[in-house]
Amino acid sequence: MTKMTVRDIDVNGRTCLVRVDFNVPTEPGTGRIIDDSRIRAALPTIHHLQTNDARIVLCSHFGRPKGQVVEELRMSAVRQRASDWFGVNVVDAGLPGDAVDPSQVIVALKPGEIAMLENLRFDPGEEANDAFFSKALGSLADIYVNDAFGAAHRAHASTVGVTEHLSAVAGYLMERELKMLTRALESDERPGVAIIGGAKVADKIQVLENLSQKVDTLIVGGGMVAAFLKAQGYVSGKSEIPDDEVHTAGELLFSSDAKVITPTDVVVAREFAEDATPSVVSVTKVPADSLVLDIGPETRALYADEIIAAKKIIWNGPMGVVEWESFAEGTLSVARAVAAVPDAFKLVGGGSTVSVIEELNLRSEITHVSTGGGASLEFLEGKVLPGVAALDDA
Ligand code: ADP
Ligand code: MG
Repeated sequence: MTKMTVRDIDVNGRTCLVRVDFNVPTEPGTGRIIDDSRIRAALPTIHHLQTNDARIVLCSHFGRPKGQVVEELRMSAVRQRASDWFGVNVVDAGLPGDAVDPSQVIVALKPGEIAMLENLRFDPGEEANDAFFSKALGSLADIYVNDAFGAAHRAHASTVGVTEHLSAVAGYLMERELKMLTRALESDERPGVAIIGGAKVADKIQVLENLSQKVDTLIVGGGMVAAFLKAQGYVSGKSEIPDDEVHTAGELLFSSDAKVITPTDVVVAREFAEDATPSVVSVTKVPADSLVLDIGPETRALYADEIIAAKKIIWNGPMGVVEWESFAEGTLSVARAVAAVPDAFKLVGGGSTVSVIEELNLRSEITHVSTGGGASLEFLEGKVLPGVAALDDA
């Protein structure tokens, strides 16, 4: 499934509608932008379009206005920050159906100039993938460029509907995400090791199942450890684990092609609390009145041994309650082990997991840090992302 990219087409003098993901985190109350890395991530595509004399119309969603105008969710601060980064004044183009007609603003753009539409989700047609709104978006440009990988798992007007009206290509960021995620799943670099953690089995079942067919070794951590302990006949503590999760864990342990590795020791506590007293126990001795909140020291060493030998590593989800110091060491040790592997392809995804990599300053040791939380997870589940499927085939 190779898709056309912005480098495959002639954009000179043409108007490009560029779907970006500028849904940046902001400070509650003031609306100040806390982290503008999503805006910076669009720079390669913007630069390509500017140097090739395209007229650029950016569009993004921002927060959850649910189909109506919410003053605090206007794009103005984002547009200002984008102007700073892109070195031009990004002009406000409103939305189709507004008092100001976007096409009037767009028609006045000179090659290399940039306009930005108002928050797409102010229009209920966006999330509904409405045919009318899709057509209105399509009428604003000659070419559609999707650089919003983080929104590609949603079938919305600006990710799917609009592609019925314009030729549709991937931007640089989208292209890189697809290339890296495809390599993670399909390349024959071996041994391939997937490290999967996080809060709940339910969130990760499909990722586990898909990856078990793609890698040699599956390393399990996080909240789902309890289900894997129970499936092996051990006491798993006091957390309630649905039968179907135990069943899935059992199937993965006993009948998947990959070698599934689970903890030999864990860090437990009586309560789910930051100041709860941690104790290290063997998995054969988990007290029935406790909760499993991290992997133990023996397990950290075992996991590091597996990780260090890998040629391909996929990591999603912390090994324990990483936000709390007493239960963070499992995740930190996995992060250090992944960073230390020489000559391997390494892909890390997931909000909490990426934060750990950033806090430890290990980004440069990772081949690809995936930006799209939900989108990268769905990709790893083996799903076809609607926003990707809708792009023109190469
Ligand atoms: P990511 O954001 O990297 O995709 P998830 O969202 O799946 O990861 O899970 C992250 C959350 O999982 C963290 O808030 C962490 O505290 C929690 N978690 C990890 N291990 C456990 C555990 N044993 N018990 C409860 N919560 C856990
Ligand atoms: Mg998360």
